Amino acid sequence: MGAEEVQSPVSHPTPAGEVSWTPIAEEAERAAKLLHPETKFPKPAHRRVFTIANQKGGVGKTTSAVNLAAGLAMHGLKVLVIDLDPQGNASTALAIEHRSGTPSIYEVLLGEVSLRDAAQVSDQSPNLYCVPATIDLAGAEIELVEMHGRETRLRAALTDQALDEIGPDYVFIDCPPSLGLLTVNAMVAAQEVLIPIQCEYYALEGLSQLLKNVELVQKHLNPELDLSTILLTMYDGRTKLADQVSAEVRSHFGDVVLQTVIPRNVKVSEAPSFGQTVLSYDPGSRGAMSYLDASREIAERGAAR
Ligand code: ADP
Ligand code: MG
Repeated sequence: MGAEEVQSPVSHPTPAGEVSWTPIAEEAERAAKLLHPETKFPKPAHRRVFTIANQKGGVGKTTSAVNLAAGLAMHGLKVLVIDLDPQGNASTALAIEHRSGTPSIYEVLLGEVSLRDAAQVSDQSPNLYCVPATIDLAGAEIELVEMHGRETRLRAALTDQALDEIGPDYVFIDCPPSLGLLTVNAMVAAQEVLIPIQCEYYALEGLSQLLKNVELVQKHLNPELDLSTILLTMYDGRTKLADQVSAEVRSHFGDVVLQTVIPRNVKVSEAPSFGQTVLSYDPGSRGAMSYLDASREIAERGAAR
């Protein structure tokens, strides 16, 4: 909901093909409150480390990692995004230097650089840190195979002590679109898994494989790992299918699924090309509002855990 949309009396398709809608007064008021930077989200009792995983590409892993992180950071929490995808999309979205040779998660995995030394502050918020991924990480999937402790190298780098040097309340590890060793490292290093699920026909395909991997990691490498959060993304309210997928996911996973659903919104996809999160690119957009809402839900759950 941009400023013009708030005044528009009825739902109508925008030129971009999206449905804009008129929020009722309450919704507008709630939104204004949520956007207000003075509104502080509650701190979690303990630092929460999430891995954002789904071996499908293009489901909103990176978009969710950076925008949830920005939502939490904007409301007073300290957040670290770890870019574990050689494509470096999270680094790009947060305008973090990630040319080859920049200290990155690759050197951290090799044990050559500390987490603190690889972390950069994002200009999106002084509370928002990012350890970038460079193209050097592309070889890691293969190099790791030969390495000692190949599944546990990220965990070895993310000790309490190493994290304390940055001090985040939340850590989001953005995974590549595969179930290879990088994703395994992320699942071993995290306490929680967040799975973004795109509200479309093939969304549930491959999910059982992902769940099986989570179980394998729980059984053999990280018994603490909790599939705590599912986020429905790219919801298109004009299609029946989106509702069917969301109903099916909710009936399967119950409370694990966040109430907030992220709509398909063109502002969300435009933001990264400006090195911005959607929260700063267009704070009044539906995409920004929904990511803020989702981050608030995550923070509230974190405080209650
Ligand atoms: P992944 O990290 O899972 O591969 P991305 O987060 O990169 O997926 O998203 C894939 C593409 O979809 C990107 O171009 C992104 O900008 C776009 N996108 C993600 N979420 C939305 C959304 N809610 N509305 C519109 N476009 C989106
Ligand atoms: Mg990605």
